[in-house]
Amino acid sequence: MEKLPNRKVKTILDNISDPRQKSLIEGILTEKVVSKVQCMSKKCRGRIVAHFVKNVNDNRETPEIVIKPTVNKKGVMFLLAYRPRLDGFAGFQCICGNDSRLSKAEMGVKGIENNAVTKKDLNEVFAKLTKKPATYTKVGGKLEIDNFVVTDI
Ligand SMILES: [Zn+2]
Repeated sequence: MEKLPNRKVKTILDNISDPRQKSLIEGILTEKVVSKVQCMSKKCRGRIVAHFVKNVNDNRETPEIVIKPTVNKKGVMFLLAYRPRLDGFAGFQCICGNDSRLSKAEMGVKGIENNAVTKKDLNEVFAKLTKKPATYTKVGGKLEIDNFVVTDI
């Protein structure tokens, strides 16, 4: 899709009064979906719980990519939380109980589990990762991480 100038996008959005419709139209006009996140639990069986999107009007050299949880027709949002993990991969928490927010190297490290990280905790995780690096591999644009799948679009 051809990129609209920012002021045209603003003019269009200023003329929409319904906030839900405005948000939807804003997404269509300004965002590009770069990947989808699927929950692979037995309950969700590949349900798309979120998308990573890039703001097409972001002119920085490396445009910011943000996560957007999907919402079904009943207004249910399945992704409860997202966390960039210290092993360099993305962690997710789904409403079904599937949770990959902590990497194997971070599990059992008190400060990380309690959200009060110390330098000692970071050193511990770094030592674990040095000894045994995370080995998730993207195959054909598809990356499987602890029962979630992120696929390039
Ligand atoms: Zn799920």
